[in-house]
Amino acid sequence: VVFEITILGSNSASFAFNRHHTAQVVNVNQNLYLIDCGEGTQMRLAKFKIKHNRINHIFISHLHGDHYLGLIGLMLTMHLQGREQDLYIFGPKGLDEILTLHLKHSETELNYAVHFETLNMNERQVLIDTEELEIASFPVEHRLPCAGFVFEEKPKKRKLLREKLSGNLSSAQLKALKEGEDVIDHDGTIYAATDVTLEPKKSRKYAYCADTRYTEAILPYINEADIIYHEATFLEDMRDRAIQTYHSTAAQAGTLALKARVGMLLIGHFSSRYRELDSTLEEAKSIFQNTELAIEGKVFSISE
Ligand SMILES: [Zn+2]
Ligand SMILES: [Zn+2]
Repeated sequence: VVFEITILGSNSASFAFNRHHTAQVVNVNQNLYLIDCGEGTQMRLAKFKIKHNRINHIFISHLHGDHYLGLIGLMLTMHLQGREQDLYIFGPKGLDEILTLHLKHSETELNYAVHFETLNMNERQVLIDTEELEIASFPVEHRLPCAGFVFEEKPKKRKLLREKLSGNLSSAQLKALKEGEDVIDHDGTIYAATDVTLEPKKSRKYAYCADTRYTEAILPYINEADIIYHEATFLEDMRDRAIQTYHSTAAQAGTLALKARVGMLLIGHFSSRYRELDSTLEEAKSIFQNTELAIEGKVFSISE
């Protein structure tokens, strides 16, 4: 089952050096979730051949323009291209008002339904809860109310080793084995779950930490994720500026990844002051080795 993140953009504030504003697509089992929607996101989707009509859920972290100004454009393109299925948007208080005002004054009645849910910026909030996946928001520290998002697979079942099972187990007993319980068939044969099943596959986890200054308060939400995305707007020599503007340095992103014991760190939200990103990458790597730049078009997969 696929679990991958495609970067569509990861530059902060203004466009620079062919780098675009923040947006990324998370694909879990062929369900596509869009995180943030900076200006031009619909063009980025087209460029990387991701069909926007496959996106049913959009998550907006906060209302700085580099994270949401592409949303109304994307929604209107969906409308013009005949979208009919419902669209679910999770965003900060005020975003629904902005969208409604746009549509009102352009006298546009969308031919699909939009369901808007306001994010709780004070505590962790479960947004989507299916049998396979949970998506939750969590508070980060930024100038505006801002949320990160965490995608985590539900605990998986053990796998039956068919060759070690006889035909006289009921489906309820097979289910019990998958849950890790031992069972006895009607001949009195005992089947120990540890003998006749394999350990379940691990549950995969991705956390998007949005725009935030360095804060260890988010560790409980992102702990032991396979991959986290953390902003690295500045280099360490501008740490004071990072603190003032509620952003982070590359070294701080590395420190957080280390403390959260994650598998991989993706850094982004690059400042337009940096043409080359080598120093940004080096600085984060000096603290957390398995770091990659969130360069647009790159796809990061989490294997099963
Ligand atoms: Zn930003
Ligand atoms: Zn921001």
